[in-house]
Amino acid sequence: MHVIVVGAGIGGLTAAADLARQGVRVTVLERAATAGGKMRHVRAGTADIDGGPTVFTMRWIFVQLFADAGRRLEHALTLHRADILARHAWREGGQLALFADVERSADAIGDFAGARDAQGFRDFAARSADIFGTLKKSFIAAQRPSPLDLVRRVGRLDALWRTAPWATMWQALGTHFTDPRLRQLFGRYATYCGCSPFLAPATLMLVAHVEQDGVWLVEGGMRRVADAVRDLAESQGATFRFGAEVLDILVANGRAAGVRLADGETLAADAVVFNGDVAALAQGLLGGGARQAARDTPRLARSLSAVTWCLHAPTQGFPLVHHNVFFAEDYAAEFAAIFRGRKITEAPTVYLCAQDRGRGTVPAGAAERLLLLVNAPADGDLGEMAPDALADLRERTMALLQRCGLTIQASAATTTATTPAGFHRLFPGTGGALYGRASHGATGTFARPGAASRLPGLYLAGGSVHPGPGVPMAAMSGRLAAARVLADAPVSSGWRSSRR
Ligand SMILES: Cc1cc2nc3c(=O)[nH]c(=O)nc-3n(C[C@H](O)[C@H](O)[C@H](O)COP(=O)(O)OP(=O)(O)OC[C@H]3O[C@@H](n4cnc5c(N)ncnc54)[C@H](O)[C@@H]3O)c2cc1C
Repeated sequence: MHVIVVGAGIGGLTAAADLARQGVRVTVLERAATAGGKMRHVRAGTADIDGGPTVFTMRWIFVQLFADAGRRLEHALTLHRADILARHAWREGGQLALFADVERSADAIGDFAGARDAQGFRDFAARSADIFGTLKKSFIAAQRPSPLDLVRRVGRLDALWRTAPWATMWQALGTHFTDPRLRQLFGRYATYCGCSPFLAPATLMLVAHVEQDGVWLVEGGMRRVADAVRDLAESQGATFRFGAEVLDILVANGRAAGVRLADGETLAADAVVFNGDVAALAQGLLGGGARQAARDTPRLARSLSAVTWCLHAPTQGFPLVHHNVFFAEDYAAEFAAIFRGRKITEAPTVYLCAQDRGRGTVPAGAAERLLLLVNAPADGDLGEMAPDALADLRERTMALLQRCGLTIQASAATTTATTPAGFHRLFPGTGGALYGRASHGATGTFARPGAASRLPGLYLAGGSVHPGPGVPMAAMSGRLAAARVLADAPVSSGWRSSRR
């Protein structure tokens, strides 16, 4: 049996590793020059900077992936648990760090906002742990359920009720926190799934537990995660080809039967796993035969995009840690602008990853590697941002940081920006949406496709697929796709008996 995996993002990599481990011949075709997809390095001056994901969580998914192959994750990756989860600052004043230890965070919140919100945080932490506990096995680590399947899997209506899909995250946070800054801080977790906290279900509060359960600093940077899983897949026999863009998923007898590359070469396969965004299939970017395999994501249902700047520059004036967030006051305006107005608000929230901090220290005055990110509408398919608009946004972003006390001595030569149009070029069919379809509303998450597409023989893996976006979730989707390929393989093919 031969399976082609289109795309070497984390979902494609885990699918390849699992399939190869179980005796399947696997070829991974990736249009970029390296593995990792969104987990990419961006050059800024002389530095290579992680220009995609930076917050590494749910280590257990990777521990299991390696253990199933008889390996140990710690032999492939060096991870250090972050003591400080993130430091937050507000334009109008106040700084708050959250810690790996719940009680330490509660104390910090008590000092910041008073005893009532400290207790609100303890209750919130327990609630997010409860939601996560309900959905871990029934949803996250399982094939996509229908709402009814989920009821059956969880088995306890009270537990499912407590996941609160009918309320918005913003409403639910209001029951825990009186200080609007805390509502904003914890509401930001919705953006980890590309959502607005004003539209996402309260269920997404589980992201807070995911962080509380461990934020890990990856020695060598996030790209090492992709390299480690690629090495694992290769060690199990998977073959990788880079600079190999698939233009067509070939269909024969109503099934995916192979692919055609941009240079005209065709490769036959018994099954294909597609790791790009599913919207690309629906838009016909992988040929007419695969168009019906998935539904397109309407513009208004797209998740967040971003404008990012990778910088190699000295900083001063603010006690940066690895993960930092800078807020302006009007969070509602920020998300209304993005999801309704299709624009970036005047003073957007800024996430800053100071990649050399956390374990190491940066000598005063030395250049350090920084990623800055502001949320943006996923309209990159409508054209590039005008240079003036991008320069203006950069100025406003730097002004917000400065109001919070941080100065970055950046120059154009050591700064590389990526806009929604840039993300759209890197990840076709998306408009720059970085997390597939936004999981807004009580049932939004069920609109993501599962591992099996509507075209027999074509399977789906990645952040636009169940269980959702983020490095660990996309990794899980690849594992679910591999499991589905294997479950569907006909016994008559003889392949099942040839498994190693
Ligand atoms: C700026 C940014 C910040 C983020 N922050 C975090 C974070 O802190 N923590 C976190 O967990 N997640 C974060 N995410 C989300 C996370 O990166 C993604 O959810 C995850 O990496 C997606 O993996 P994937 O499997 O969907 O593959 P992708 O990374 O989307 O890769 C898909 C691959 O398929 C290839 N491909 C597509 N079409 C074709 C074709 N036709 N032929 C050949 N190859 C093709 C692409 O080139 C690409 O390499 C962030 C993302 C971005 C962009």
